[in-house]
Amino acid sequence: MTKETAITAISDYFDTGAFTDELAGLVAFETESQNPDQAPELMRYLREPMTDRLSRMGFSCEIHANPVASAHPILVARRQESADLPTILIYGHGDVIRAQQDQWREGLHPFRLKEEGARLYGRGTADNKGQHLINLAALEAVLQTRGALGFNCCVVIETGEETGSPGLAEFFEAHKDAIGADVLIASDGPRLQPGTPTLFMGSRGGLTFDLVVDLRDGAHHSGNWGGLLADPAMILAQALSCITDARGQIRVPEWRPESLTDDIRAALRDLPIEGEDGPSVDEDWGEEDLTPTERAFGWNSFAVLAMTSGVPEAPVNAISAKARATCQLRYVVGTDPAEILPALRRHLDAHGFSAVRVDPCETGLFQATRLSPDHPWVRFVAGSLTRTSGQAPHILPNLAGSLPNDVFADILGIPTVWVPHSYRACSQHAPDEHVLTSVCRDGLRLMAGLFWDIGAEETPR
Ligand SMILES: [Zn+2]
Repeated sequence: MTKETAITAISDYFDTGAFTDELAGLVAFETESQNPDQAPELMRYLREPMTDRLSRMGFSCEIHANPVASAHPILVARRQESADLPTILIYGHGDVIRAQQDQWREGLHPFRLKEEGARLYGRGTADNKGQHLINLAALEAVLQTRGALGFNCCVVIETGEETGSPGLAEFFEAHKDAIGADVLIASDGPRLQPGTPTLFMGSRGGLTFDLVVDLRDGAHHSGNWGGLLADPAMILAQALSCITDARGQIRVPEWRPESLTDDIRAALRDLPIEGEDGPSVDEDWGEEDLTPTERAFGWNSFAVLAMTSGVPEAPVNAISAKARATCQLRYVVGTDPAEILPALRRHLDAHGFSAVRVDPCETGLFQATRLSPDHPWVRFVAGSLTRTSGQAPHILPNLAGSLPNDVFADILGIPTVWVPHSYRACSQHAPDEHVLTSVCRDGLRLMAGLFWDIGAEETPR
């Protein structure tokens, strides 16, 4: 039995339609974690398809209540072969973002998988059901071929990632000794380009907050009071204009990272940023002295997610009382998250905007993490993927998006290597979410090859 046998087995799993059928079964669970009515569905996802599959593969499964009372359960499955072997931790999330059912294209339904040409449509196909299914199926192919994995494996499937993974950090803090993993190998997010495997080793952090200008009770007639009453929307717009310049370059001094060092620049230098299908990058937007790749992966970005004053759908002739913008900073390693809002407060005050309130939002904070592209585990995984696919992967120090990677990197203190199985135009977090069949098939083969190699070769210790 050889690595080639395992890779042939996993190719057959895809080519016979078994992968698509199994993914369709997972997509049918309406696991929206942002919708309180679907809480039973989250438990059912862990109890039925995940526990069934992992038990069949010789894992002992336990579903844990979340340490945060209102938050969702966490499945821990363990397959122990020998205390002398390394332990690989695999993570995935069974919950999905809101379905947005009425916004999907005619003929598509978020919870009914549909194959159309080279695509599989359905909520969670990319984020994250398709990705953890690929990894579990690849593990099974190695197990069936070799009769053992050749390593110990711990699989953690949580169900609250789309609400900011509440309780996940507390859970790992309490269970870190029992988990005792040597490395995290997991899959989420997109490849840089669909035809080339990608590795990333961390993510940017994200902090969401509201800027509020709340001047008085109720609106007042714009004829009688215009020119006499301060306009909250104008004050808010002026305040926003001091946070960045006209091309979005950040002006808050503490928000400008100092971690874009020469080695990170070198790692990013030759990576492509534009794939097929996605919108084209606005070359004259963002930090002027940086390349687009450095802007997305090596720098912080500020965004206004939504803003309102008065009633935009039904304007009236009145000076409104209140204006609000929901804003976000995506930040790289080196920006202290505890200092982000105090620094903004000082900046607004210094520019005369003391009337603008900064309200932190309760959810949506992930920490920034990063691992050197030269780490031995990165080299091991990259070497395996290169041998299986015949081409070197794109290697990113961190993803531009955010993940609960700090739980693994900081609490467990282990290296983290992510091998994403989606692509940038997959409409993740939007209607018409899908994966590419070519990337799914390739991902299955790459992961079967990687798990084979981990069980066959000397791994980093
Ligand atoms: Zn997501």
